[in-house]
Amino acid sequence: MHPLCHLSITHKDSRPALVGPAGASQRQPRWQGRRFCGLWLAVGLLAGLVGVQRVAAFAVCGNDVCEATAIPPENSQSCPADCGGTLPGDEEPAVSSGTYRIPYKTGTLVEVTNDHLTHEPETRIDMVGQAGDTPYRIVAAAEGVIRFIVDDFSENRPGESPCNNNYVWIEHPNGEWTKYSHMTQGSVTGDAGLAVGDHVEAGSFLGYEDEVGCASGRHLHFEVAVPEDPEDPIDAEGFIRGGSARNRIPRICGILDQTLVQDTRYQAASCEESAACPAGMQCCEPGPGSCRQCIPNGSSCP
Ligand SMILES: [Zn+2]
Repeated sequence: MHPLCHLSITHKDSRPALVGPAGASQRQPRWQGRRFCGLWLAVGLLAGLVGVQRVAAFAVCGNDVCEATAIPPENSQSCPADCGGTLPGDEEPAVSSGTYRIPYKTGTLVEVTNDHLTHEPETRIDMVGQAGDTPYRIVAAAEGVIRFIVDDFSENRPGESPCNNNYVWIEHPNGEWTKYSHMTQGSVTGDAGLAVGDHVEAGSFLGYEDEVGCASGRHLHFEVAVPEDPEDPIDAEGFIRGGSARNRIPRICGILDQTLVQDTRYQAASCEESAACPAGMQCCEPGPGSCRQCIPNGSSCP
């Protein structure tokens, strides 16, 4: 089955379900997204072979026209376009317009514990460092400007309200924002020496992976969102206003389908440099001198 199409809700949100506006119930039709695919020019068509129906979709995304591509219905959650395109009738959120690196220091092996389908709310990602330099270093997924930092909390408070999460929000030039949560107290402003307004590059150190706030153990919570109002994008707890309807499925460079999949391990690397799998693991998607999807030796690639 296509990795985007499996669906198993196994994860409860890392925040209380009844608090704030980030619940899934506040979703809005995706075509209302300000920056993405506001107008479908043509939908429909084609396929010709008996028993095989395919849909061609054409979408306008800003000044770009999504590529028109035949997409099997079972893959309808995956728009192949580079502009955050979505398919009609598809209830899943759009993919990000930007391409992001795995937000850990290069060389870190990470495992996705909740992907965009299994995370609650959906579209967000949880991942955990598995091997590499410790404590695991969280890095910026792309170039941008730091807009919010909270790193003065120290407690793990799963299921409590308020969550008292530590987090960083970065605004990127493409209008998308990325969030990094649960990092170690003081590691953003202290160890990384960052302040609101600082410019960071892809790969810039942000802080250490931890379990501060509503976290089910040590991990990084990562998400991509397009704020309704960039001047007032988040609530008092750091959650994006408008909830998961504002999120975009992160497109990640160098991995299969550019999509993170639950229970899969990846080798963090920049979008340019190469990375090799650690000892005992083999590469599933060899690129030009690089590998970012590693599985144990002897296993079958997805
Ligand atoms: Zn999470």
